[in-house]
Amino acid sequence: MRIPNFTDVLRARRVIGQHLTPTPMWSYPVLDASLRAKVYVKHENVQPTGAFKIRGGITILSSMDAEYRKHGVVAYSTGNHAQSIAYAAHLFGAPCVIAMPERANAEKVRAVRAWGAEVLLEGATVDEAATNAARVSVERGMRLIHADEADLVAGVATCYVEIFESMPDLDAVIVPVGSGTGVAAACLVAASMAPKCRVVAVQSEASPAAHESWRLGKCVTQSNRTIAEGLATGRGYALPQEIIRGKLADFILVSDASIRCAQRLMLTHAHTLSESAGSAAVAAVLSYPEDFAGQRIAVVCSGGNASEREMPEVLCADFKRESFERTVPIAAASA
Ligand SMILES: *Cc1c(COP(=O)(O)O)cnc(C)c1O
Repeated sequence: MRIPNFTDVLRARRVIGQHLTPTPMWSYPVLDASLRAKVYVKHENVQPTGAFKIRGGITILSSMDAEYRKHGVVAYSTGNHAQSIAYAAHLFGAPCVIAMPERANAEKVRAVRAWGAEVLLEGATVDEAATNAARVSVERGMRLIHADEADLVAGVATCYVEIFESMPDLDAVIVPVGSGTGVAAACLVAASMAPKCRVVAVQSEASPAAHESWRLGKCVTQSNRTIAEGLATGRGYALPQEIIRGKLADFILVSDASIRCAQRLMLTHAHTLSESAGSAAVAAVLSYPEDFAGQRIAVVCSGGNASEREMPEVLCADFKRESFERTVPIAAASA
């Protein structure tokens, strides 16, 4: 297992600078008032694929030898990793196959195809898709790209370089977690650029595998039932776990109901349509207001690919009904 270092991040930044514009980080007074903190929203939802993962995809494709790259790449995913690899393969002219489960979100399948990738819809779960991807890799001599490679973490880390460059004295940065590449990247960069900034991870309590793996100090399997596609993983990933060990200030679990409320708050108070995973950091502040009151915090809006199906649920998200509100006054949440 190769652990990326800050030099890898700076190298990735040169590459990313050639292909992507830095994303904005903005604050909104009404959101600050609701969350009772100075909140900076890092807008990864405005990336060309609608999520931060594109930074990893471009970094990994650019690191491949041009001859090798001609043989193509294959990845497995239900969503934003798929779009990231498909986009990067398109950018570098590499053939690309994405293995997805049979019942994958039709909008995401459409987006992946639109970047020119071949989609293999087979198997009930992502794990079966992973097996299919491995088979394609052998049959066609394509490089298999996993969800937690060192170059992906280095690429994703460029997001945190942008954050700390524009705001060097943050008290905390809150990062939504699935496999953990994003939060590993945050830890890596904070250690070099902002050692006093607390890196806080957040995951849905309905899919707590990364949290449990961090707590127990070894990768474990957990139930995986969250509504937030970007956070829906059932196991811990070794590379990010290794990087965050001893570096993470806190790891918060939030309810899916609080994520929906946060999504609505982003819409009404920050003019931002985020997918559920993209609102998890705001859900962390809603759920544990005391931990962040009065502080300067960055919340990573990791993605904006909300499906048409979830939009009515976002608009109907009810501040009064759900249990997480025992910790947050209703007036504060809906101010
Ligand atoms: C993948 C993803 C995450 C989780 O990132 P990891 O690096 O897998 O922890 C969070 N939000 C969105 C929108 C994602 O696509």
